[in-house]
Amino acid sequence: MIWYGCDYNPEQWDAATIDEDLRLMREAGVNLVTLGVFAWAFIEPAPGEYRFEWLDDLIDRLGEAGIAVDLATASASTPAWLGDLDPELASIDGYGRRRSGGTRGHHCPSSAVYRSASRRLTAELARRYALNPTVVMWHSGNEFGGAAACFCGRCRTQFVGWLRRRYVELEALNDAWGTAFWSLRFGSWDQIQPPGVTSDFGNPAQYLDWARFRSDLLLEQFTAERDLIKAVAPHAQVMTNFMGLFHGLDYWKWARAEDLVTDDTYPDPNDPCGARDNALHIDLMRSLAEGKELLILEQAVGAVQWRDVNTPKRPGQFRLWSMQAVARGAQGICQFQWRASIRGAETFHSGMVGHAGPVGPRWAEVVGLGGELATIETAVGDRVESDVAIMLDWNSLWARREAHGPDADAPDVELRRWHAAFFELGIPTDFVSVDSDLDAYRLLVLPSHFLVSESTAQRISAFVTAGGHVVGTHLTGVVDDTLGVHRGGYPGPLSELFGVRVLEHWPLAEIASPASGAARISAAVAPPHPGRLVRGDGVGELAYARFAEHVQLLDLERRAEAVAAFVGGDLEAAPAITSRTHGAGRATYLAASLEEASLIATAGRLAADAGIVPTLPGLPPGIEAVRRGRYLFLLNHGDLEQTVDVTSARVADPGDGRVRVAPRDVRIIALASA
Ligand SMILES: [Zn+2]
Repeated sequence: MIWYGCDYNPEQWDAATIDEDLRLMREAGVNLVTLGVFAWAFIEPAPGEYRFEWLDDLIDRLGEAGIAVDLATASASTPAWLGDLDPELASIDGYGRRRSGGTRGHHCPSSAVYRSASRRLTAELARRYALNPTVVMWHSGNEFGGAAACFCGRCRTQFVGWLRRRYVELEALNDAWGTAFWSLRFGSWDQIQPPGVTSDFGNPAQYLDWARFRSDLLLEQFTAERDLIKAVAPHAQVMTNFMGLFHGLDYWKWARAEDLVTDDTYPDPNDPCGARDNALHIDLMRSLAEGKELLILEQAVGAVQWRDVNTPKRPGQFRLWSMQAVARGAQGICQFQWRASIRGAETFHSGMVGHAGPVGPRWAEVVGLGGELATIETAVGDRVESDVAIMLDWNSLWARREAHGPDADAPDVELRRWHAAFFELGIPTDFVSVDSDLDAYRLLVLPSHFLVSESTAQRISAFVTAGGHVVGTHLTGVVDDTLGVHRGGYPGPLSELFGVRVLEHWPLAEIASPASGAARISAAVAPPHPGRLVRGDGVGELAYARFAEHVQLLDLERRAEAVAAFVGGDLEAAPAITSRTHGAGRATYLAASLEEASLIATAGRLAADAGIVPTLPGLPPGIEAVRRGRYLFLLNHGDLEQTVDVTSARVADPGDGRVRVAPRDVRIIALASA
């Protein structure tokens, strides 16, 4: 069964509207609602005074209507009275200024008053509802990490405690943070501050540990709430909603603390790459779930309200992107929110019921999708089989972000580009952590995997020795766990595997037009210029931009081979793509950030070399094909009707082997049983 539903915030509505809501939810096929995410002030209007009657009544009525409840711990937005109990409740920014209340998530996560009050509320909710059969899952907090960080004295104390547990000895911290540079050495733990706004560059390693600490600090709140619920109902399903490839939390750690994984996904209808973004979200969440249930917990039926321009989804796109999520592993499609608010910060965020009421094509789409999802027989165990794995480690993203160089690109740019290349090729991909099991994969991609520890390098080498193919790109293996550079050349502990040593990074600037001819000397000067093309016998000419590296082949017994070399410029003839074989295994290094067409061609070639083929061959423009469990999903993201040849798939009822898919339509085709 697939969950279908929404956030439901009845505290905004009168009794007659709630009556209508329950009737309309049945009409729409809703079978799951999330209750109480922002309802703390209504459940506990004054300290210790609980008002459960409205929740009792609503949960009863939802249960009678056959609608299950995902009950929130309501700790994401604090009631005004909590500020009376703790005048320092509001968080402190990096300049040391206290933020205003009047929003959600403004509390300091280290406030003892917040911690005890939120946990007391969770305990009360668990005591009352954890054994209620209508409550099938629990929703801790909301979008943890989304609120700005707090730099107050209490958070400083927590940070120092975290550091003492990590390093034990102060000298170990001084070493790890490289405090020999700029005379930053600490003589006592009390001298350490959270990295707020500084007068010059902050210490990168300090920021890296702050990011780790902050993820752990918030995880402590999640696990405390989870454990209070499980103390009453050990088999309760507890989660919180993730935000895709969000940089604030180490989602591997978080997902492993959860019973299921849920995500909020808001691709931009104005972005032609919206479907690609949605695919990345779902692939990431499926990977994080590691076999557990995955739900889309929030998406928009039409428009959101938080971009500069909030264009609604095109006709059919709500269903299309929902089915894309199901195809890629989701067992639930839920929306924020049931009824569009008429007041408050998210008034213009669409709902399943819009401001105009349950009318028009949008409502028809809502009802239609509910009916259709009820007919799809997917199960949690129905996997999307992927031969390609992309390694993702939040420590590496943070290290790259905080490193002050060699360029200012976002730390996940290359990772997104490689996922996109496989998406366009129609080849399914998983994400893996540094300690995931790699045995199931044929091709492992390290897209600018900046931080590589010795132990990670050993696991990658073992994967290649066992016959796996690995591809590493520029800016891989630059630093260790503490943001200390690997000496002897990048990619550090992977150098021998790839058979290369990186001598120098060459990030590319947009080249300014030369000074006028009257500037006799300056007009004659060219900026650093490594060329824009690489060329090789087997790969032809490939274009690159943004980043290059000066690479040298290591003088090993079995040397790596230069598959392509730089053409023209300062890196003329230096290796640009290298390959080193290890029995059946292969390690390919890319010293240039390939432009999109060249990247897609290269990803396709590397996949083919590893024996990987797309889900269906020869797919027409706009068509995404995904196989999950007993279904083949054909999704047409384009504006033209397309015909798809499915003769290579084991279709249960093959007919003439051709399936027509209308614009923004989805065809779900049963496969023959194995
Ligand atoms: Zn704080």
